[in-house]
Amino acid sequence: MRIILVGPPGCGKGTQAKLLSKRMKLEHIGTGDLLREAIRNETSVGLRAKPFVEVGNLVPDELVNDLVSERFQRDDRPKTFILDGYPRTLMQAKSLDSVLVLHGLPLTAVVLLDVCDAEIVKRVTGRWSCPKLGCKATFHTLSNPSKIAGICDDCQTVLVQREDDNVETVKSRLTVYHKDTVPLLPYYEQNGLLKSIHGTGDIEQIYQSMVHSLSI
Ligand code: AMP
Repeated sequence: MRIILVGPPGCGKGTQAKLLSKRMKLEHIGTGDLLREAIRNETSVGLRAKPFVEVGNLVPDELVNDLVSERFQRDDRPKTFILDGYPRTLMQAKSLDSVLVLHGLPLTAVVLLDVCDAEIVKRVTGRWSCPKLGCKATFHTLSNPSKIAGICDDCQTVLVQREDDNVETVKSRLTVYHKDTVPLLPYYEQNGLLKSIHGTGDIEQIYQSMVHSLSI
């Protein structure tokens, strides 16, 4: 299966992508995670991306397109995958199309996790994640709290909040989402790939709706 997960910031794409990747053995490619890691390691990509990520703007298309297409140029390119947070613009969707055509890897589906703006603003300040490489577990104070507040259930590392998870930045990320990413929906609908599911409620229920929409 080759899937794109799309939706507003904080809709649960990362959480659902991790579940799908683990249970269906798909490679999880999250451009937000890749960029945050590059920023932490102060690589040249990270230094270029940092000012955009900090204020909730999209990093330039070329930068993120290169990041993804490099992964597909390698001999160990994923044959099945879940893309989380990419593509986010029509330019990125077209770049991805050409990469996938080149390697004969057509998409199976594009899943929209639909959550309204008011709910996103309410949710985003409760997000916590484990910063440990190779763990990256995510929690939410309301819907998925860690057993001990502030501590990762899986590896006991102290949890952190993303710098861009504050109300002001999330409002600007929502504006960017509506302007740049929502136009992808008719694009994928035309190709018959779009499945839309409600992204509110219990994590497992949302996962089951997603699986159902993919007929697996
Ligand atoms: P995410 O973790 O997916 O919410 O992404 C966090 C931030 O990384 C976004 O607000 C953007 O600044 C940047 N980013 C992630 N993916 C992309 C993308 N496909 N295109 C442009 N910027 C991106």
